[in-house]
Amino acid sequence: AFKAILVSRDEDKKQSVAVTELTEADLMDGDVTVAVEATTVNYKDGLAITGKAPVVRRFPLIPGIDFAGTVTASENEEWRRGDKVVLNGWGVGETHHGAYAGKARVKGEWLVPLPEGMSARDAMAVGTAGYTAMLSVMALERHGITPDRGPVVVTGAAGGVGSVAVAILSKLGYHVVASTGRLAESDYLKELGAAEVISRDELSGPAKPLAKERWAGGVDAVGSHTLANVLSMTSYGGAVAACGLAQGMDLPTSVAPFILRGVSLLGIDSVMAPRALRLEAWRRIGSDLDHAKLAALSTTVPFDGIIDAARDIVEGKVRGRVVVEM
Ligand code: NAP
Repeated sequence: AFKAILVSRDEDKKQSVAVTELTEADLMDGDVTVAVEATTVNYKDGLAITGKAPVVRRFPLIPGIDFAGTVTASENEEWRRGDKVVLNGWGVGETHHGAYAGKARVKGEWLVPLPEGMSARDAMAVGTAGYTAMLSVMALERHGITPDRGPVVVTGAAGGVGSVAVAILSKLGYHVVASTGRLAESDYLKELGAAEVISRDELSGPAKPLAKERWAGGVDAVGSHTLANVLSMTSYGGAVAACGLAQGMDLPTSVAPFILRGVSLLGIDSVMAPRALRLEAWRRIGSDLDHAKLAALSTTVPFDGIIDAARDIVEGKVRGRVVVEM
């Protein structure tokens, strides 16, 4: 038996969460079983556990959208007992039993190898938030947004996606403008590599169709008015990777940045991202993220701290990444 968190729903569709004990027989179908060694609390996990948004779509369900661990049994020819693996997304923690348990059983094709030189904890200090930050950076690169094109902005910078995006972009040589609602975290953001820290108040109100050009591109974890302002301030031919909705799911913008400045909006999804892209993202996380910074951008909580951390993250109280060591 192992400890697990279970999200349930009563007849009135009221959601509740509890810590319980399960066995491997309680897990869902899959061809690989993994002993979970580390997991994380992402924003989406916060939504799942608090029920603030309909992330969990099958009840009862073990939440947790990502984990790193060791294969304990495999009927998949790609994986053997003892292999170190990482999982992000694919509906795990939404429709398939997730990471907040001692064991997980999943489809082998959902797994990627733990990058060389990284521990399970390191991989979860990156987690889905950090892997999404890397997918965003790769999208900017594909669009030709190189460091010589000018500064790049990162919104929600003190959060998980933001912190890792700041660390990666600065290591790659970009001049990073970090936007945060927590200016008290300026030293933290500069330690991660931000060249400038700005208040999110500059970006959170209604946007003009076009504003003064401030950056060549950006990584936006916030959406809503913030993304609209980021777009209106993006210089000619620039691009912005949209990956989050911490301010809201709406996008109150106009076509002006697109048709008058040739700005592009790049959509980022980590959940169903094809395997080749994931393998590339995790390879790049191995090479283009300063692993020494992972200690600065993550805090560790025990298994019993998951539910509190989930409540904190939806209130915007978490700095950087939260790692859960099993
Ligand atoms: P997080 O750690 O909570 O980071 C979000 C950050 O956004 C906060 O730390 C805060 O940063 C800022 N923020 C929060 N509320 C805000 C508001 N009302 N207005 C403006 N800024 C606000 O969460 P995360 O795990 O990094 O995820 C960030 C976002 O990306 C979430 O929306 C998440 O759902 C999304 N996401 C998407 C994908 C994908 O596949 N596309 C994958 C992972 C995450 P400051 O305090 O610095 O302002």
